[in-house]
Amino acid sequence: MRLSRRWLSHRNLANVDDARTVCPICGTYDSFVALSEWSRDDLTCTGCHNGSVPRERAVALALRDYAPAWRLQRILECSPAPRGISVELMRTARHYQAINLFPDKPLGAVVNSVRNEDLEAMSFADSSFDVFVSLDVLEHVPHPETAVREISRVVTPNGFAFLTFPIRKHQVEPVIARAVMSDDGTVDHLAEPEWHGNPFSSDGSLVFTDFGYDVHQWLFEASGRNATVIRFADAQHGIVGELTDVCVLGPLGGAR
Ligand SMILES: [Zn+2]
Repeated sequence: MRLSRRWLSHRNLANVDDARTVCPICGTYDSFVALSEWSRDDLTCTGCHNGSVPRERAVALALRDYAPAWRLQRILECSPAPRGISVELMRTARHYQAINLFPDKPLGAVVNSVRNEDLEAMSFADSSFDVFVSLDVLEHVPHPETAVREISRVVTPNGFAFLTFPIRKHQVEPVIARAVMSDDGTVDHLAEPEWHGNPFSSDGSLVFTDFGYDVHQWLFEASGRNATVIRFADAQHGIVGELTDVCVLGPLGGAR
């Protein structure tokens, strides 16, 4: 399939007609189609199951580079969307566990193969997984530092976590709260409420935290792991547009 002309305008390659793109999730050539000019949500892949978006393809590249044996490993994914990289992980990894927080179900219940877990207090033993993946979850967690500590706990000391979330362009501070949840579950808004789509709930998900440039330092402190932020402008792999960063938490031994 040919690239749409609109998407070709994103590319800054001298010989566009000779260059072939390839999807790092499904391996299909020349499969990217722009459904709108907002590439973050709408530059899809016609080869991926239910399509994919740039940040999913970015995670696929990060997995390839940091955890190339992931298909043989134990993978935990929080709140997977039914498409792209999540379907690929579920289908091809030897051991794959999906989790999501279903507020109206008991913790530990399994809903369509997805286990009900609170990312801030998971029931898994330490070092239960080799790889953790979450795409656009951390901004919706009321206490992201607690969640990052939990993620680090359930991943083996030599394992990796791959996280995406919007890193705001004009913010240096690593975290700024948009909303605060009290112990009784009430939410106070410190900024205009912002909601994102949620594959598990038509109500959407409230953004609790805005992340900024220094998030790598914050991740290092919160997780005790080496932290790397990868930023992409990669037309060949269909990773263009806004907010495609992947944060990688590496082996333990950094801040501890
Ligand atoms: Zn694909």
